[in-house]
Amino acid sequence: MRTDGQRQSDNFEDRGRGSGGGGMGGGGLPGGVLFALLRRIGLRGILIAAVLGGVVWFAFPQFRAPIMALLGIGGGGGQVAQGEGNTCDSADATQACTFSRQILASTEDVWRGQFQQGRLPRYNNQQPGAYQDPTLVIYSGAVGTEGCGSASSDVGPFYCPGDRKLYVDPSFYDTMRDRLRAPGDFAQAYVIAHEVGHHVQNLIGATQVQVQGESQNQTSVRVELQADCFAGVWGHTAQSTLSIDDADLREALNAAHQIGDDALGQRNEDQFTHGSSAQRMTWFRRGFDSGDARQCDTFNVPANQL
Ligand SMILES: [Zn+2]
Repeated sequence: MRTDGQRQSDNFEDRGRGSGGGGMGGGGLPGGVLFALLRRIGLRGILIAAVLGGVVWFAFPQFRAPIMALLGIGGGGGQVAQGEGNTCDSADATQACTFSRQILASTEDVWRGQFQQGRLPRYNNQQPGAYQDPTLVIYSGAVGTEGCGSASSDVGPFYCPGDRKLYVDPSFYDTMRDRLRAPGDFAQAYVIAHEVGHHVQNLIGATQVQVQGESQNQTSVRVELQADCFAGVWGHTAQSTLSIDDADLREALNAAHQIGDDALGQRNEDQFTHGSSAQRMTWFRRGFDSGDARQCDTFNVPANQL
């Protein structure tokens, strides 16, 4: 795959090391960036920006909060729990941050299109509205969420439905390569796309589906396999833009295999929460081959055909 020249999403927060406290994290332009920006636009630019900013400030009160957030002033009442520095400033994380933002941007393009066309499974007669972008939080070590408590990077990348944010510690990419034996950029992209898959589920109400007579674990497997399938739909749709080839597909399938519950050492099927290696590969493949999220309706398939 190739990501050079691709857009990086701005729906992104960089939190520093061990920012476990919760509350309002991140937001705002880092001082250096703001300064560089001001120097770039010059004095006349600053004056024009100030006048325009003033007009927007008074004419459109609804834009006040975003302007303040952009400038890093205030923050809507919550306490700021920034960790030390920014994660993406450290040399070994910069590339992972850029890559993650590019993949996020690509998922935004893909899912905007899918929502526009209504190519989605339906739950509880819910009409899918327009796609709403999730935010990617990059952190290091530990992180506080606004809806899912605090988490350490041991849990791996995750999505919090309460705040609609994806949480990724870039060191997970090393874990994939070294410990999970799932190397490759497309394998990494699959992980981001899987978390975005959970966001899509949140938007279409799939997270509320409870299959009659099934345990929480069994429902969890359906949720996870659907997220895998959605990741596949993303891969299919982004194929030409990101030059995704057969070797990439093999990387993702290998990753799906390596993070199957059985591959991770779980022998008791009742304890499965994400699905077996075979199931994860199958559902990713189903999304990737069809490019149609309606093929990802894991909730309406008998358990033995998952
Ligand atoms: Zn998941």
